[in-house]
Amino acid sequence: MDLYEYQARDLFDAHGVPVLRGIVVTTPEEARDAATRLGGGLTVIKAQVKTGGRGKAGGVKLAHSPEEAAEKAAQILGMDIKGHIVHKVLVAEGADIAEEYYFSILLDRAERRYLAMASVEGGVEIEQLAVERPDALAKVPVDPQVGVDEAKADEIIAAAGFREELRGQVRTAMLRLWDVYRDEDATLVEVNPLVLTEDGRIIALDGKVTLDDNAAFRHPAHEALVDQAATDPLEAKAKALGLNYVKLDGEVGIIGNGAGLVMSTLDVVALAGEPLGVKPANFLDIGGGASAEVMANGLDVILGDSQVKSVLVNVFGGITACDEVANGIVKALEILGDAATKPLVVRLDGNNVEEGRAILAAAGHPLVTMVGTMDGAAAKAAELAK
Ligand code: GDP
Ligand code: MN
Repeated sequence: MDLYEYQARDLFDAHGVPVLRGIVVTTPEEARDAATRLGGGLTVIKAQVKTGGRGKAGGVKLAHSPEEAAEKAAQILGMDIKGHIVHKVLVAEGADIAEEYYFSILLDRAERRYLAMASVEGGVEIEQLAVERPDALAKVPVDPQVGVDEAKADEIIAAAGFREELRGQVRTAMLRLWDVYRDEDATLVEVNPLVLTEDGRIIALDGKVTLDDNAAFRHPAHEALVDQAATDPLEAKAKALGLNYVKLDGEVGIIGNGAGLVMSTLDVVALAGEPLGVKPANFLDIGGGASAEVMANGLDVILGDSQVKSVLVNVFGGITACDEVANGIVKALEILGDAATKPLVVRLDGNNVEEGRAILAAAGHPLVTMVGTMDGAAAKAAELAK
């Protein structure tokens, strides 16, 4: 889960990372009040969207009075930044910036460790810096068993070339940011810019944090960070039903058992659908059990997607044999009754396939077509969607 900047700011604050005060608001009037509460002086009004480059897009503006804070908030609220509509702005204390730096810690999957990156040339887009002046971006591997301790922080600081007099403050900031990374189970903690203020303080001015969803079970407090309004309603429904579902932008609903088979199914449907302008509508892995109830829940979620025109059920009978799955499909269609309105292409193979096909044939449901091969089933589903 990616966090909004204000949520990252709050986490930083909770772990002792130096940040400026900030108040998140949704209207210009609230922005005016927030600026007043922050002392009535210089504030920065910042669009809260989960994408970078807000500054360039006009989503970060300085305000010198509460009145101006309201005006700037009015300009930013509702703005479209790379397809993200701004619904909230952060009213933050303004800083007099002397220099801008960069620091991040992230998960390096390929190397099976963490990676710290730092630069004394921050503020700019770091991807650009990495391409144009790679030497200016220090990359330091971090052993997950050790993390960023004082020695590692000093190594990063030396590699990036922070000036002597800044090292104490920068080291403290890095150690606290490591606390955020480790204690919150993050896969990314990025600060751009980390600034030096005119009065000599090091402050994390902008934060980006990605939390590891697989660790959510041990962070009950993270539930409150989920943006309910932005969660797709079908994904929310699937989650409540305990289904492994990801909404995609297409017309052919997909149900399969096993993540690998479902991924392959997405590929063959994408291929078969390409000449017809048809794409897979979702990922849904109903797992090993594939009971009638799970099948009905899965179909229910997929049929709730108004974009879906056909559904492909692709099952390989293993531990759960095809006859059980076929019974599941028949019962699921009974449970759904009139709610089942779109054609279903079923491809069964594997354990007890003959029994499974016989069960579906005997049921003779008008919406169900059986196809023997995966490619054939994908072609049929794509054609029906068209
Ligand atoms: P981003 O463009 O989405 O990365 O948003 P940032 O929060 O990083 O802001 C972009 C730029 O706005 C920063 O690099 C700063 O130059 C500037 N900025 C942000 N906050 C302040 C502030 O408090 N005072 C001043 N003077 N500039 C700021
Ligand atoms: Mn930034």
